[in-house]
Amino acid sequence: MNNVLERVAYLRGLSDGLALESDSKESKLILEMIEVMSEMAQSLEELSEEMAEIDDYVELIDEDLDELEDFIYDFEEDEDEEYDFEEIECPYCGEIIEIDKNLFEEGECETEMVCPNCKETFIVDNDDCDE
Ligand SMILES: [Zn+2]
Repeated sequence: MNNVLERVAYLRGLSDGLALESDSKESKLILEMIEVMSEMAQSLEELSEEMAEIDDYVELIDEDLDELEDFIYDFEEDEDEEYDFEEIECPYCGEIIEIDKNLFEEGECETEMVCPNCKETFIVDNDDCDE
């Protein structure tokens, strides 16, 4: 867009070099045309700046929206998994314990667990584990 402003300035310079007679119809026309072009170039420049600002703003909104989508998606996933319980038997006292499958980290195949009845620590295998 700078290019248009520069070219109009160049035209203005050319018209100055012509030493136009200010009272001739042709010179009035040329000077008026350059004036109009100059204003148009200025408007274009301003519009372009405003567009760039709007672009930045839309990008920010888009990023916020992505975060919001991720948040909602995670939230829905959590709700689905909320009742994913499994019953296991304590190898020490035989107590049946309900565990939440979410206690496993992503890709984790086993985790330590303390029996609420006998307080012994044992290993719980993750049935969903690939290995
Ligand atoms: Zn136990």
